[in-house]
Amino acid sequence: MNKSVRLLVIDDSDADKLHLSRALNSSGFLYELTELADATSLEEISSQVYDCIFLNYLIDNDNGLLLLNTLRGRGNKTPIIVIISHNTESAAPGLIRAGATDYINKSEISGHSLGKVIRNILKVNEIVSARQDAESALQTSELRLAELERIAQIGNWEFNVLNNNFYCSSQIYQILGIQNSYTATVDKFLEYIHPDDIELVQSTWKHVFSEASINISFRVTTSSGNIKYVNVFAYATRNKEVIETIRGTLQDITEKKLAELEIVKSKELSENSMKVREIFLANMSHEIRTPMNAIVGFTRLLYETELSKEQKSFIDAIHFSGENLLAIINDILDLSKIQSGKMMIEKSEFNLQELVAGIISVLRPKAREKALQLNSKIDQHIPSVLKGDPLRLNQILTNLVSNGIKFTERGSVALEVNLVTSEDKEILLEFKVKDTGIGIPQDKQALIFEDFVQGSSDATREFGGTGLGLAIVKNLVELQDGKVSLHSQVGIGSTFIVHLPYEKVNQDAVYTSESPAKDESLELLRGADVLVVEDNAVNQLLVKKVLDKMGCNIDIATTGREALDCVRENRYDVILMDVQMPEMDGNEATRQIRKMPSPIADTPIIAMTAQAFASDVSECIAAGMNDYLSKPFKPQDLYAKILKYIAAVDHTKVISLNQKGFKIDLNVIFELGNGDSAFINELILVYDKQTPAFVEKLRAYTKSHNFAAIKSVCHQIKSSYGILKMDELDRVLIDINAALEIEKPDAEIGKITSLVNVIISLISAINEEVKRELRKTG
Ligand code: ADP
Repeated sequence: MNKSVRLLVIDDSDADKLHLSRALNSSGFLYELTELADATSLEEISSQVYDCIFLNYLIDNDNGLLLLNTLRGRGNKTPIIVIISHNTESAAPGLIRAGATDYINKSEISGHSLGKVIRNILKVNEIVSARQDAESALQTSELRLAELERIAQIGNWEFNVLNNNFYCSSQIYQILGIQNSYTATVDKFLEYIHPDDIELVQSTWKHVFSEASINISFRVTTSSGNIKYVNVFAYATRNKEVIETIRGTLQDITEKKLAELEIVKSKELSENSMKVREIFLANMSHEIRTPMNAIVGFTRLLYETELSKEQKSFIDAIHFSGENLLAIINDILDLSKIQSGKMMIEKSEFNLQELVAGIISVLRPKAREKALQLNSKIDQHIPSVLKGDPLRLNQILTNLVSNGIKFTERGSVALEVNLVTSEDKEILLEFKVKDTGIGIPQDKQALIFEDFVQGSSDATREFGGTGLGLAIVKNLVELQDGKVSLHSQVGIGSTFIVHLPYEKVNQDAVYTSESPAKDESLELLRGADVLVVEDNAVNQLLVKKVLDKMGCNIDIATTGREALDCVRENRYDVILMDVQMPEMDGNEATRQIRKMPSPIADTPIIAMTAQAFASDVSECIAAGMNDYLSKPFKPQDLYAKILKYIAAVDHTKVISLNQKGFKIDLNVIFELGNGDSAFINELILVYDKQTPAFVEKLRAYTKSHNFAAIKSVCHQIKSSYGILKMDELDRVLIDINAALEIEKPDAEIGKITSLVNVIISLISAINEEVKRELRKTG
């Protein structure tokens, strides 16, 4: 059944109202009718919902128009049908303009006509309410969008390329601090871009026409003068390849950007402070290690002198404290090296058994002092030669085993190496360091791997230490892709477990370690010419003492500049070069030496420095040094380093001539002699006799211009000295031969004379050197 229609009739004529209600009765609609005689109760009209209002135009003597205006003025949207009579028809257009939905002539009112009017009105109402729903939905979504834009601080905009129209949402006005009444034009908006970013915006904006989209962040100056960071995203829409509009968003990213800048700033700050820390540590290490070097070195030398019991105990104390202090400095340096990412993990072949045996033999005296058992066991399935970083492994295990000894009063410390997995190219090893010591409380176990953390202050007082050892162990293990863990029980003991991967190597390959110098090879040091470049008088003395013991010939230069003078005048088998020196530092001196003629330039140079960073080492190597020895050094290490280079020089000795160095090769002679000293002595005699004879002949024949004879002598010289493979002599002999071959050698007598002089000095020098060298071994 039809719903009843709610109708209002405003009419002051009872006859008209009766007529209307009659017609309504026969309209076929169910209806509820409210009747008002005048417009005095407007409140009531507005408060009720009607489907339609019938308003008599002639109410109160044609006040219908006024009432209509009032109703519409109050926002009443109910359809209003104005009832007119045939003599008021002319008012109809004015009524429609004033908001009447329709009008009907009183004489035409019938059930049929009203039914038609009501049907139309209901249809219109339906349409209107659908439109209202749509409008309110649109309004809601616009509000939501605006709210969203407000929260995200992002606005949207659109630029019509064809007519230059520019729209932007209110959030953009908000971001730029512009009054909303502002009429947007692109040019106006460009004025807000920060002057320093205009170029950036322009150059990026160009791409909006060719690329799918652009994204650009820049600064704007808002109308109140604040600087904000915004991000603009834009893309073009096309109609058949013609760009019609460019749309996009503008987001306020100030907070994010400021946070980013803050991060960059603090990163720079922390990098700077890292650098400052590193420089400080490098300097500190130099400053502390230099005197430490002297203390530890001289203490070692003192041990070798005649000492009373009391003196020996004092020296023991100095030695112990010195070594301890050095260990602490080294720990601090190591940790800072690791933390600044400068710790290099090397890969070289090493023998695990030798490494473990070395650690045990170094730490055994300490264990013995405390009457502790110190054992080691290596799983026999582990190959003896592995590839990895032996130095770091040594450091890790030494740390753990010495902690074991330090924190154990009774019982044993054991180092065990087990094979965990073995694959094609890699094996995983487990190192277990087990002690029967004081143990570590559960709540401290996770902490002790942190820097400067110690188990308990009692233990610190009793055992000393810095709390850095385990932090270094953990860092070193993790740098090598391993892990470290711990099982410990107070009063029972601790077991530290380290897992580390190593590369497998061909076990047949010959393994040579750079082991400390063996006694027999130390003999090679006897007579070696060593230049020590060192500004610190104490260190000079120390190095000299250590090298004197081996019978080396030592020259000392106190600055880089002095070192340059020394190498110009003498030949050295090796140069020990301090790095930090006044006037000219070791790196610069090395660079200068490397620029000198051969063989001076080829002299092995070993850096000897108290600085310990990898970057310092690489700087020395970059300057041209061959090797590096960190101070304080053990005499054995110094010997081993020098030997490495002396052995390389072997019997190929260099001689100096007119401050120019030339190389002669005595290998053939040694091979021929094969230890036969009679042969060598005879050879010396031959050279010694022959050389002055050649010199004399050359002088005489040059004086007499006897070119054929000069040529013949030169030929003999070539056969006699050729065996020494001296390039310079060979070259001069070729040159003189060429000068003698020309038609009139007389014309070239000046040149020939000077070549003869060079030959004379060369063979004289060779003779001297051969004598000196052969006598050493002969
Ligand atoms: P340090 O030994 O210099 O104090 P470490 O980092 O090597 O520093 O060790 C940190 C702490 O861990 C030690 O102070 C000690 O309390 C505890 N610790 C380390 N190893 C052992 C161990 N084997 N037994 C008992 N406690 C240990």
